[in-house]
Amino acid sequence: MDSTAVRGSRAGNVHLSRMSAGLFTSVSSSKVLFALWVLGTAVIESQGIPPAPTATRANGAAVRVTVKPDPVYVERSEIGQHLNFEFLLGNLTDQEFLLTGIEVSIFDDGGRLARRDFVNRFSRTSLEIPPRRVLRARQSTLVFNPFHSFAASVPLKRLRYEFAFGTDDGRVRHTSVAEVVPVLYETKTPLVLPVKGRVLVWDGHDYHSHHRRMDYTLPVFQNRQMTTNFQRYGYDLVLVNEQGVMYRGASKDSDDWYRGRPDENEAYFAVGQPVYAAGAGRVVDLHDGEADNRRFDPAEFMKRATAGSGNYVVIDHLNGEFSWFGHLKQGSIRVKRGQSVKQGDILGLIGASGDSLFPHLHYELRTGPGITGVEGLPSYFGGFRRVGSQALVGRGQLDTGDVVENR
Ligand SMILES: [Zn+2]
Repeated sequence: MDSTAVRGSRAGNVHLSRMSAGLFTSVSSSKVLFALWVLGTAVIESQGIPPAPTATRANGAAVRVTVKPDPVYVERSEIGQHLNFEFLLGNLTDQEFLLTGIEVSIFDDGGRLARRDFVNRFSRTSLEIPPRRVLRARQSTLVFNPFHSFAASVPLKRLRYEFAFGTDDGRVRHTSVAEVVPVLYETKTPLVLPVKGRVLVWDGHDYHSHHRRMDYTLPVFQNRQMTTNFQRYGYDLVLVNEQGVMYRGASKDSDDWYRGRPDENEAYFAVGQPVYAAGAGRVVDLHDGEADNRRFDPAEFMKRATAGSGNYVVIDHLNGEFSWFGHLKQGSIRVKRGQSVKQGDILGLIGASGDSLFPHLHYELRTGPGITGVEGLPSYFGGFRRVGSQALVGRGQLDTGDVVENR
């Protein structure tokens, strides 16, 4: 239990004991009203401002901030540290607000400020600004955390996020504060890459990747009771030649390395190549029989929640970690439900079934099978070589754009 305290915050002298991810407070700009919600068992003490009755505190805040997921994990790579989470901003009022800025303050073990940064509508508008800025009355909006990557030296002990928002005419302004205490995640399962050859990570889980930016507040996901992002650490792996091209022959309409991709699955180096068990475990779920037609049918998704993955295999590593292998080739799965597998066993072949742009393997580590109540986990792999280096990586992270050799 961490007894770090916040002193002299804009909420008044509010002392928070047991900081944890998902602990947040919201205050009006008048600094009269303050509120604090706690996910878990945090205790609130206040100085200076007498605590209001619980109901008043809850009703007094304009926007409730929820940090998702809880806990927030730190992922380490060769270039630094990464945080992969988002904020759910719940507008508790009947007014519409605009999100006008987000500021982060990072504190070390001793509570000293180690880094401060912000984005807003005026001086620091960039790609890092969340695109969805309108907080509709009585609705929740997902905002991807714009401060996601840091040098290895930054002490990510406690992060305080302040959100500024107000009415369009600027007459009403509020702030909400969220506190995050990230936890370093050490992958428990020894993992190797599930494909062999020269591998390009077409899309991983960097800030702009589509895996991370799954907005589970959209109706299509809400209708399936999805409130988490199990693919937030996912990878789309393709096989490429030394020039980074992923198919044989001419491209469809240009020499562009990816936009001109052919329609024929068979032109791709990846198609039909084996998919290997990244780690040992037991097959707990699988699905086969879907055509390699690169199609996602929303109607099918409403009937079968895993339709987007096409043909897939799920391995339970028997330690709280599960591996998901998606878009496999129709009829290629060669394991059975309940079967134990060793690392490196062949599960099936790479295909283009389900919501697949072109033949590739989707791989992700996660907390369970299925699609509800499951979160993504950072994964580190051993036994590959980065192109340009002779060294075999013992335990390394991959992300969008990496090209590696796995023999
Ligand atoms: Zn994918």
